[in-house]
Amino acid sequence: MIHREVKGLPRNGASEERVWDLLVVGGGPAGLTAAIYGARAGLDTAVIERGQMGGQMATAHRVENYPGFPDGIEGAELAARMYEQARRLGAEFLVGEAGRKDLDLGSPVKTVAGHRARRVVLATGARPRRLGIPGEERLLGRGVSYCATCDGPFFRGRRVMVIGGGDSAVSEAAFLAKLASKVIVVHRRDRFRAAPALVRGLLALGNVETMMGRIPVEIEGDDAVRAVTVRGPAGGPPEKVEVDGVFIYIGLDPETGFLEGEVDLDRNGYIITDRAMRTRLPGVYAAGDVRAKELRQVVTATADGALAAMTAERDLAEEEHQRRRTNGR
Ligand code: NAP
Repeated sequence: MIHREVKGLPRNGASEERVWDLLVVGGGPAGLTAAIYGARAGLDTAVIERGQMGGQMATAHRVENYPGFPDGIEGAELAARMYEQARRLGAEFLVGEAGRKDLDLGSPVKTVAGHRARRVVLATGARPRRLGIPGEERLLGRGVSYCATCDGPFFRGRRVMVIGGGDSAVSEAAFLAKLASKVIVVHRRDRFRAAPALVRGLLALGNVETMMGRIPVEIEGDDAVRAVTVRGPAGGPPEKVEVDGVFIYIGLDPETGFLEGEVDLDRNGYIITDRAMRTRLPGVYAAGDVRAKELRQVVTATADGALAAMTAERDLAEEEHQRRRTNGR
């Protein structure tokens, strides 16, 4: 694993007596940027994270479209830099997992995983979607993976399949082609959804084969992946494709299960906010991939994070102003 573990951080409970100005839930690019802006604005800021900084970004082998890095940058490196920037500006980091337990977002002082704060930014991101076919769960870690950067090196000189047709599938397939002897990309449509430039780059590689209009139905193998059975959409006969590894990139599901009934979610489970990142709950904001929006990129996640923290800061200042006026009367 190339993820940077967040070692030596206070365990859940260490900040329970403290009331933070800003508690950011999630340490991906949206959360880390919210922490950078919050801390820099003088807010007492903490980030609560399950243990790995950078979220999805940290699993990208290379980020090529984040401004300022003309040669691209490793996702884990960008995550480490954002973390360091937030830390140097004074943000603190807590290990913990937000869940329905110890959660109160409706009160003026909010609670998440036992930690209390006057303002909360939800930046929990999204997790890889599962195919839900036989063999997927059983062979996870034995050839089935959702992270080429983490597991690709195990397949040096071997045959792998990539499932999906979006930006992630296409760019991670290109990364795997540098390691594997053969990469077979299986996509259910006859056209990729990914950006044309990414597709062109992939198709130019000599050891990449595409199988379009195919739907994976089973991953086979006893102790390790041996083959994947796919069938054509027209109900053609199933084909067995022999591979040693399967990388699944079929999209993301938002990490919002614990928020049902708390904030407004769209029909896909993404948090609905206004343009300033406010959710329907006063003092609760959302940022990054977890938010209902048009474009999910590192650069839009960081923009959301900045805006969420600045809105929180303005709202806190306004609350303070109102309180002073009321007390002064
Ligand atoms: P995505 O854009 O949602 O693409 C998911 C792909 O998986 C689609 O091609 C979809 O097919 C296919 N799929 C979905 N469910 C499937 C199923 N059950 N069986 C087979 N195939 C299935 O997801 P993503 O590629 O993970 O990207 C997520 C977000 O991150 C996107 O907004 C993307 O632009 C962004 N991203 C950007 C970059 C970059 O800019 N370099 C890199 C990675 C990710 P259909 O086409 O038929 O729907």
